[in-house]
Amino acid sequence: MTTLASALALLVALAVAGVLFGRRAHLLYRIVRLGKPTDRTGDAGRRARTEATVVLGQRKLLQRVVPGLVHALVFWGFVVLLPTILMALLGAVDEDWTLPWLGHQGWYLLLVDVFCVLVLVGVIAAFGIRKIQRPARFEGSHLREADLILGLIAVIVTTLLLWHASQIALGIAEWPAGWSPLSNAIATAMGEGAWLETGERVFVWLHVLTILSFLVYLPYSKHLHIGTAGINVWFGRTRSRGRLEPLDFEVEDEAALRLGSGTLVDMTWKQMLDTMSCTECGRCQDVCPAWATGKDLSPKLLIMGLRDRLFAEGPAVLDGREPTALVPAAVTDEVVWDCVTCGACVHECPVSIEHVDHIVDLRRHLVMAESRFPAEAGTMLRDVGRSSNPWGKPQSERAAWADGLGVRVLEPGDPAPEVLYWVGCAASFDERARASARATAKLLLHAGLDVGILGPRESCTGDPARRMGDEFTFQEQARRNVATLGEAGVTRIVTSCPHCFNTLGSEYTDFGGSYEVVHHSELLAELLADGRLEAPEGTDPITYHDSCYLARHNDVVAAPRAIVSRIGRPLEMARHGKRTFCCGAGGAHMWMEERGSAINEERAREAAATGAETLAVACPFCTMMLDDGVRQTGSGLRVADVAVLLAEAVVPASGD
Ligand code: SF4
Ligand code: SF4
Repeated sequence: MTTLASALALLVALAVAGVLFGRRAHLLYRIVRLGKPTDRTGDAGRRARTEATVVLGQRKLLQRVVPGLVHALVFWGFVVLLPTILMALLGAVDEDWTLPWLGHQGWYLLLVDVFCVLVLVGVIAAFGIRKIQRPARFEGSHLREADLILGLIAVIVTTLLLWHASQIALGIAEWPAGWSPLSNAIATAMGEGAWLETGERVFVWLHVLTILSFLVYLPYSKHLHIGTAGINVWFGRTRSRGRLEPLDFEVEDEAALRLGSGTLVDMTWKQMLDTMSCTECGRCQDVCPAWATGKDLSPKLLIMGLRDRLFAEGPAVLDGREPTALVPAAVTDEVVWDCVTCGACVHECPVSIEHVDHIVDLRRHLVMAESRFPAEAGTMLRDVGRSSNPWGKPQSERAAWADGLGVRVLEPGDPAPEVLYWVGCAASFDERARASARATAKLLLHAGLDVGILGPRESCTGDPARRMGDEFTFQEQARRNVATLGEAGVTRIVTSCPHCFNTLGSEYTDFGGSYEVVHHSELLAELLADGRLEAPEGTDPITYHDSCYLARHNDVVAAPRAIVSRIGRPLEMARHGKRTFCCGAGGAHMWMEERGSAINEERAREAAATGAETLAVACPFCTMMLDDGVRQTGSGLRVADVAVLLAEAVVPASGD
């Protein structure tokens, strides 16, 4: 073919691929534009750092070394080999054309050789993982599509090597051929002959056409993530992971009032982009406590279900058709209610998909627009609204746990204490959890702190209502508590409940409440380090269970461990720190019937397997759930809050 004929052929191929790709990309863009607004501007520096570490550095994928490396080899290979696409397009027109400067650099062509091999190693390993190892996390993923994509990648790098080798064999390589050891070796194997000239043209055209086919196939397949993942990571959350986006009930235009996600047009554009970014890797499914205990919910299948709905209905909705309800068309009611909002899926996801926000938005619509929720949870919602606590206990009993301890119960007009102890409903009303409140108060007083509590003026933070989807009740509670805290002049809060910790510290800022909020484990560890609390070194084997809302959502990992390692001999469970496993109470599951096997029992068995005698916790809900789990599994472990264990060591005479 002459240069002109080749150029025309390439133009036709580019035009066909461009039209097919562009049509699909434009449709996807229009679907995303259907989404509701969510503000993801600002924090450019942080976004750039996340992009650099999560996308370029593959940080999240490398949390699992072998599959992470496999993906990283292919991804980094893709980045390094990107300029070879331009070289191939030029080379397809004329064998003597290449990129100015870079096409003549031996070092770059050496990199090309090296990364072709690494990509091929990555592709073979990925096939091996899929076909031989067959990890459970791929259950439900589109594996045939993945096979096709891997096959196309293998053809792309192989034809690149063959093209370069044939150029070397013909003596038309534009770079010093000695820099390309592999291409050189293949060139030697090719030998000489008239076929080489035709072969060189066949290899480069095969290479170019495979790349164009790959490009066209991408937006129609799950490998759409190659184009969307980087964008999705850029627009990921930059504020606390435990914070939920508030709904605005005071919008002037009633049509703009959003009550969560009822149909696809209620989803935000970020949620739509989330669904298009899923790689179906199953990392989220692998860590999900609901899935692990035989429930219907898989965060991966949830996102895939929403994506399927988006693709099935999006074009018709763009043409003016009414969308159908997401529940049950995309996901079932059971899936929506199975979630404990532990955030393990979000933490694991390599492309910044925000599963918890999706689930809570689905719940919001069911609860607030349809009054549709598990019957047993309805009692809790009613009690939060009427009695200011989810157990429906009289507020007059809220401070009963503190009788005789000498803790100041703040009356209106009293001077603000140095630190306000926000007790939370669980430690106020549940007998097992009250032990931690008593121990915390004793320790703080023992250390000489001026501590006060709000007593009956403390009200549920609204966390369980919010996680259930009742944003309206949550916001009522939030505004009421912010007003009380403001009136009491509170600036520093300590709380022993990770859910209160998350809500007071990360969510009340949206309602005008801004405080320094510390978890009791942090304050107690600080007092131990300062010497204001003194405890003898202990040797008893203790395993510590991280609460999801403390460790994963709010990064408090070291402080409770500092206490445990002072008073005992720490033994870690397999799943710990930010990769902890839920106790089963989150997402308002404290008040819901559990289907399938019990999450708390699975966690209790994991704790017992460490050989510890004590299971330390730092959350009243974990105390209750794991205590039940230990009883059911019969391991005989003692479950106790770190404050209780510390109080026994510091003030043994009066320890609970
Ligand atoms: S938040 Fe936890 S329970 Fe809910 S989907 Fe994610 S991993 Fe599963
Ligand atoms: S949601 Fe994230 S972690 Fe889960 S399968 Fe998709 S990409 Fe993987």
